[in-house]
Amino acid sequence: MAPRNPTVTGAAGAAELAEPAARVRGLEKSFGDDPVLRGLDLDLAPGEFTALLGRSGSGKSTLLRVLAGLDGEHGGEAVIDGTVAVAFQEPRLLPWKKVWANVVLGSGSTEPRKDAEAALAEVGLEARADAWPLTLSGGEAQRASLARALFREPRLLLLDEPFGALDALTRASVHDLVLDLWRRHRPAILLVTHDVDEALLLADRALVLTDGRISHDLPIDLERPRRRADPRSAGLRA
Ligand code: ADP
Ligand code: MG
Repeated sequence: MAPRNPTVTGAAGAAELAEPAARVRGLEKSFGDDPVLRGLDLDLAPGEFTALLGRSGSGKSTLLRVLAGLDGEHGGEAVIDGTVAVAFQEPRLLPWKKVWANVVLGSGSTEPRKDAEAALAEVGLEARADAWPLTLSGGEAQRASLARALFREPRLLLLDEPFGALDALTRASVHDLVLDLWRRHRPAILLVTHDVDEALLLADRALVLTDGRISHDLPIDLERPRRRADPRSAGLRA
């Protein structure tokens, strides 16, 4: 599906397909006199699942906000080739709109109800289409948030500690769901987490953000077994 909301993009010729999903050079971001990002460089390959680790306050969320275009002024260059979607730790669904309406909000869909139902089925939430967001459990709300993010078929999906508020069992099932969705849609994913095990479980590559730059860039063994896809979501849309 073509990107619906290209942020910054080059020509869409075949030669462009190898372009990184994100290319960041010399990124600088300060709040007042406090520099947070200090000349950060980063490339994210298409379809790559990258974890971003770093101490609390190191600037992980700031980096994601800049990449998502949610944070105005910055120095340096951040080029995103295609649509970007974000999911946060708190799902941020609008409480006065039903779950299905949240999923397609702002998408310009001509068949919003039908599209929302298909997207919700993919995350195992079709039965909750007419629920109000405040009646969802934490795991359900995170699933709805993922459905909303992926509905836009992003080339880059930014996940800011999306599992942080979930209990261990729910977290495991949402891990499986994210892997399943990633295999099916193949966005590049940049996942902020402070959980090293989570990075090892999910990602192909781990970055560490220290003093405003990427201090470590480590490949993760691709041959290791990953979790099986959640049987509740696998095969729903074969
Ligand atoms: P992390 O996500 O790694 O925990 P953040 O990106 O949230 O870190 O924050 C990095 C630093 O920038 C912190 O010192 C934080 O207080 C500061 N900061 C983040 N957002 C703002 C803001 N809107 N205004 C002022 N300071 C901010
Ligand atoms: Mg943060």
